Amino acid sequence: MFSYRHAFHAGNHADVLKHFVLVQVLEYLNQKDVAYTYIDTHAGAGVYSLDSAQATKTAEFETGIGPLWDRDDLPGPLAEYVKLIKDMNPSGKLRFYPGSPYCAEIVAREEDRLRLFELHPADAKILADNFHKLEQHQAANGRRPAARGKRVIVNKADGFLGVKALLPPPSRRGVVLCDPPYEDKQDYKKVTDMLNDALKRFPTGTYAVWYPVLQRIEARNFAERLKHLPAKSWLNVTLCISTPTPDGIALHTSGMFLLNPPYTLEPMLRQVMPYLVQVLGRDAGAQFTLESGEATTAKKGGPRT
Ligand code: SAM
Repeated sequence: MFSYRHAFHAGNHADVLKHFVLVQVLEYLNQKDVAYTYIDTHAGAGVYSLDSAQATKTAEFETGIGPLWDRDDLPGPLAEYVKLIKDMNPSGKLRFYPGSPYCAEIVAREEDRLRLFELHPADAKILADNFHKLEQHQAANGRRPAARGKRVIVNKADGFLGVKALLPPPSRRGVVLCDPPYEDKQDYKKVTDMLNDALKRFPTGTYAVWYPVLQRIEARNFAERLKHLPAKSWLNVTLCISTPTPDGIALHTSGMFLLNPPYTLEPMLRQVMPYLVQVLGRDAGAQFTLESGEATTAKKGGPRT
């Protein structure tokens, strides 16, 4: 059950897509002067050492953050995401990579709340320890004295279930990131069931689902099923870095599916995705797709592509 460890994959092309989009969603929420809640149903360990034995074994970051690290021509929104990682690596050498909870912690404001679920006992402990150390560091530097202990809560629990009790958030503003390992094919159904339930509790929330684009039957129709959830609007972006190999083992393509996305996201992605394909693409099969729809038009006429 607990075979997946995100440390083997940290900073790869799929993380770049996921975290870059997440940062943009949170930046959008930051524009309004009302607190929001960020819920991470599958948080992972929070921070990853790219020189750890796990990360160097696969060196997946070389498909993602690696090629972006020294670029001086990053489009603005992508530069914001890379800066966040540069700030974690003041020596200038890429050593630490932030997982989704850390990206959120950096971008969210003092008044916002982070609710993090992680079921793996070891990763839940690392996540809690990481945030504990961060709070101590912030306290020592005189930051965030008021909200300590409340701003970030780490739960060693099942995020599919735990999210229910948090919706709707007190301010009726929030984003849920759902990023399960999908090693268990039941995860696909659990995501759609969770979203169906969450949309009843909190119809105006923004929901972001990361997913692998794989040949397995559960994966193939996953995005199509998400389009029929009862949200006002949706956006689906995928990034493919190379032509799939016949063995089908390596992950070449992944997607972010958003329900009720910020309206600014699609035009921004139209600008930035070609750049990501150009820099991360490994062969002529590299490409992106971007489509969106509204609840009514999606059912009647299909997506706007
Ligand atoms: N969201 C993280 C990020 O972007 O940095 C990566 C998460 S990783 C893809 C998936 C995580 O979900 C793993 O750490 C795994 O242990 C955890 N997990 C698996 N099933 C879970 C569940 N039902 N509830 C909470 N966490 C779970």
